[in-house]
Amino acid sequence: MKLILLGPPGAGKGTQSSVLSRQYKIPHISTGDILRSAVKSGSELGTRAKSYMDKGELVPDDVVIGIVVEALKEDDTKNGYILDGFPRTVKQALSLDEALMKASSGIDLVIYFETSDEVAIERLSGRRVCKKCGFNYHLKNIPPKRPGVCDKCGGELYQRPDDKEETVRNRLKVYKEQTAPLIDYYEKKGALRKVSGNLDVEELFKVLSKMFSAEHLA
Ligand code: AMP
Repeated sequence: MKLILLGPPGAGKGTQSSVLSRQYKIPHISTGDILRSAVKSGSELGTRAKSYMDKGELVPDDVVIGIVVEALKEDDTKNGYILDGFPRTVKQALSLDEALMKASSGIDLVIYFETSDEVAIERLSGRRVCKKCGFNYHLKNIPPKRPGVCDKCGGELYQRPDDKEETVRNRLKVYKEQTAPLIDYYEKKGALRKVSGNLDVEELFKVLSKMFSAEHLA
């Protein structure tokens, strides 16, 4: 099953990707996660990406395209994968099409998580992440047992710099300008399926499972 999850920041793509990746035993390829770990490691890529990420801007296309092309060559992608947060521009989508064509491969479905700005802002501004294991919490919806401490590993919880309200607003603006045109791009190819990103994790998982059965993907 080869999937692209498309939608604004805060739509729940990352959370749903983790659930789907466990359920269907396919890798979750998140360009945001890859870039964040590059920032953490202090690599040249990380240093270059950080200035864009902190402002809520997109990292240049050539950088992310290279990351994804390499990730798709890994053996663990043979039975499928979930692309989360890529492509985010028409140029990235065109490069992905080209890379897949060369590999005689293709995407099965592009799932568009239709989400209101209010829900996205509420989710992102309340999100807290464990510094050590990366587990995601939400101050209201998924609070940790002890404030500021990860239930799983005892690590310290922090707010991603790009989850501050002002940066979130810029990320939503960038999404509308540069990523939303992909809805039309994939709709024209007949690959797009719409779901509500406003649903909670379990409800949305059920909707997706039914969709995959109907599409004979699982
Ligand atoms: P995410 O975790 O998907 O919200 O991504 C966090 C940040 O990483 C974004 O705001 C961008 O700065 C950068 N990023 C992630 N994926 C891409 C992409 N496909 N193209 C450009 N920048 C990206």
